[in-house]
Amino acid sequence: MPDKADKGAGLSDGGAGLSRETAARRLEDLRRAIRHHDYQYYVLDHPEVSDADYDQLMRELLRIEAGHPDLVTPDSPSQKVGGLAAPTFSPVRHRTPLLSLENAYSQAELEDFDRRVRSLVPGEDVGYVAELKIDGLSVALRYENGVLVQAATRGDGEVGEDVTANVRTIKTVPRRLKPLGDGARRALAQPDLFSRAPSGWTMIVRGEVFMPVEAFEKVNRARQEAGEQLFANPRNAAAGSLRQLDPEVTAGRELDAFIYEILRCDPPAVAPETHRETLEFLAELGFKTNPESRPCPDIAAVAEYCRGWDERRFDLPYETDGVVVKVDSIEQRARLGVRAKSPRWSIAFKYPAQKAETKVRDIVVNVGRTGILTPVAELEPVRLAGSTVSRASLHNEDIVREKDVHIGDTVIIQKAGEVIPEVVEVVKAKRTGAERPFQMPTTCPVCGAPVVREPGEAAHRCTNGLACPAQVWESLVHFASREGMDIEGLGPKIIDQLLTTGLIHDPADLYRLTEEQLAELERLGPKSAQNLVRAIAASRARPLNRLLFALGLRHVGDRAAYLLADHFGRLERLQAATEAELREVPEVGEKIAASVTEFFAQDVNRDLIRRLVESGVNTVMPGSGAAGGGTGPGGTAAAKPLAGLTIVLTGTLATLERGEAEELIRNLGGRPSSRVSKKTDYVVAGENPGSKLDKARELVSSGQAPGLKIIGEDEFRRLIGRA
Ligand code: NAD
Repeated sequence: MPDKADKGAGLSDGGAGLSRETAARRLEDLRRAIRHHDYQYYVLDHPEVSDADYDQLMRELLRIEAGHPDLVTPDSPSQKVGGLAAPTFSPVRHRTPLLSLENAYSQAELEDFDRRVRSLVPGEDVGYVAELKIDGLSVALRYENGVLVQAATRGDGEVGEDVTANVRTIKTVPRRLKPLGDGARRALAQPDLFSRAPSGWTMIVRGEVFMPVEAFEKVNRARQEAGEQLFANPRNAAAGSLRQLDPEVTAGRELDAFIYEILRCDPPAVAPETHRETLEFLAELGFKTNPESRPCPDIAAVAEYCRGWDERRFDLPYETDGVVVKVDSIEQRARLGVRAKSPRWSIAFKYPAQKAETKVRDIVVNVGRTGILTPVAELEPVRLAGSTVSRASLHNEDIVREKDVHIGDTVIIQKAGEVIPEVVEVVKAKRTGAERPFQMPTTCPVCGAPVVREPGEAAHRCTNGLACPAQVWESLVHFASREGMDIEGLGPKIIDQLLTTGLIHDPADLYRLTEEQLAELERLGPKSAQNLVRAIAASRARPLNRLLFALGLRHVGDRAAYLLADHFGRLERLQAATEAELREVPEVGEKIAASVTEFFAQDVNRDLIRRLVESGVNTVMPGSGAAGGGTGPGGTAAAKPLAGLTIVLTGTLATLERGEAEELIRNLGGRPSSRVSKKTDYVVAGENPGSKLDKARELVSSGQAPGLKIIGEDEFRRLIGRA
């Protein structure tokens, strides 16, 4: 942690040194820039600059305003909470404003904060609680008589957006509060209010909705495959997912939430005396609270806590961008009060953006499944934000030009949103003259076919389609992937061998492979060969949406595949659909419709589908109203009773084969998994269950997975409607 505040190299000084006129002009520019970035960040969930760059603009604004207090206007970003409520959602006026936090960037600034607090409560002991600053978005949840009735985003602090239906899809947010145990009752001024059948009481709590890093990576992978714009970081992904008009989209995004504050309780039955008691009380009610929160007797202990998480935070399954420090005593907080946009009793310590210097050894070009050529910087390996970075995507030719990256350059890299490494800038002073500019190849580096850049697109594309080996390999990896046909054991290396030995040329060839042929491959004994043949055979039964996704049509991601399959019910109907008919499907626009018709118009794809059908691959969407023998589309989304649930099977089921049970789970919207974790919803224990059952029991008994249920075969059959 830096000792001194970084005064922002290159920025103007304290502001007091500027003439009034210059200060006014600079303030106007800064305010305009900040408002623009606020709009990009809060409304569009698509920031154009890093948080660190944004924070520098804000710090400069604050410094100039401090030097010229008469230039502070009531609408300056320094006086208002930054967010905005988008007009697409119903507005919610917060009963208690949702404030922002003041920031500290160094130990010295934390000590300043401590001095300010102490001067306002002279002679008193002040204890703090330090907790992780979860990088998500703030929500207020209103419970009436213990039932969740409204969830709202922070918006501008006064008016937020109604996202109730979406928040209801987050599993860790209780829809109904739990009855209280004795521990929490101590925190209650009127315990009876909670123990009686509750009536007439309102409680509003505040917390942070976030997307775990794993879920973020998954959603971005899917977006990349579908040719959609990637989320910059998990915070933007969480905001984009929560602020969705369709709650089903939110449900598929695996959001999570930590709750940390009681904003209001009417009548005032709850009277915790400290923040720690508040957290205990919230946990008793069934909220998920962050386990890393720590009481700190003084600011030195807070600084120690911040140092302790400096590196370790990268091992967490979610992102933090700092530490929130809060005065522990609720009564002291009341006396300290609030300013225009932040409380005086709390501050956010922010870690500096993690940057590192390294050299670009080369710029190579990758060819993806859809033929897109992506320039990638190969770097001298360097440690950054918890991992070793040796590659950074340069996205496309325009970005290489804009950043002016040459092969051999020394560059500064950072992890945008702490996750994806990016080249920030070239250290031009270190150029020796030996560096070479990058040229986008005019032919595909894998197959030699011409490369085109379509008008209006940033990407270059190989024109050879599935005749390009790179695209064939990538498309097979995609076909067999978990989200596609889910062929267990068919990974990238085996696909590589199958292609180079000429055993397969496209996905349809997979279904003709024999155990003998597979057993010949390196590292595949007879047993694995047998398993692989079985796994390939089992994939024939996947529902139509999975087949469509697996075929990898441009712009057709997981969701579009589902919507198309559900609407048309059968592959032949989808194949025969016109662009206009395709656009009748909700959420299917021009791009997807054009891509689908283009795909089915190509002989090579038609031939592939014919051979897939001949080899017995399912082309029907079970449960779709349109799947039956009717004449046209128009089916509605079938009920998916297991939507969003992760289910692990262990042991032998008496009435169902393992593969069959997994397929049923998938068809009903669930996700079969072979690993028990905190995220598992059900573990189905058959006869002779294995260690998965022990793991599940351990997670339940230690309280780590309160939502996990262990069930037997009978209950499982009830769950899938086959009792
Ligand atoms: P903030 O994110 O710096 O801090 C306040 C927020 O912290 C609260 O609203 C709350 O949601 C959150 N928080 C997380 N964990 C918490 C905990 N344990 N206890 C209490 N609060 C917790 O402030 P802000 O006003 O939400 O956003 C401003 C920041 O957003 C900027 O500093 C910048 O980093 C970023 N931003 C970036 C851009 C951009 O273009 N890159 C634009 C606007 C804002």
